[in-house]
Amino acid sequence: MSKLAFKGIIISVQPRIRMIRSFDERSHNYLGYSLLIKGVIDNVEPEFSEEAEQDPSNRIFSVGIGKAAQQKHQFCVGNEVSGECAPVADERLEPVEFYKVSKLKKAGNNTTHRHAPPPWEEVTPELEEYRERGHRRLAARTYDSKCTTCLWGCRMPVEIIVDNWNPRKRKYRFETFCYGPLSCNLYKAGPIRKVEGRNGMVYEEEDWVDEESTGHRELDE
Ligand code: SF4
Repeated sequence: MSKLAFKGIIISVQPRIRMIRSFDERSHNYLGYSLLIKGVIDNVEPEFSEEAEQDPSNRIFSVGIGKAAQQKHQFCVGNEVSGECAPVADERLEPVEFYKVSKLKKAGNNTTHRHAPPPWEEVTPELEEYRERGHRRLAARTYDSKCTTCLWGCRMPVEIIVDNWNPRKRKYRFETFCYGPLSCNLYKAGPIRKVEGRNGMVYEEEDWVDEESTGHRELDE
């Protein structure tokens, strides 16, 4: 498959993590990082909007990179980036639109105005640090309105194994999480999440799950 060239300014870097749920159990696949980029990408029409019509460079798209690429380039909000990528094969399993990046380059910084956090927009930590920190559920609306540029925010594709005796029966959805300080004043948990199991049973993920996952951290950590 021929790849698509892209170029633009990074407006967000977040961990790229997939969750697998099976009733009350969950596990994570640490895939790398998601770059949200404002710029141009070959052969893909800009999404329709008045703004985009006036300036095609306004297209916003997401690209997945690996852990080693982020270690090397240390991408953060405001960096100029270019490379080549391919559309993802299965959109249910990826938080990004494009991946398999090659010829990745960091050209420099633009003059993005830095502001005091939250949201946190500096270079992301290692994926091991995210795993050690643990996450809390984050309301999807809060994520969309306040957290898309925060390095502690994460929109995970979730694969649900509904019936372990019939592993082909799976469901897919997206869930948003926060790995950030427990004291963040933008945080809102949103409704408790429910997971479908076999024979119509439903698991409700209560608040104690988040407390257990993040309770080892101080409030501002
Ligand atoms: S709620 Fe979490 S993801 Fe959102 S700004 Fe605060 S620390 Fe970042």
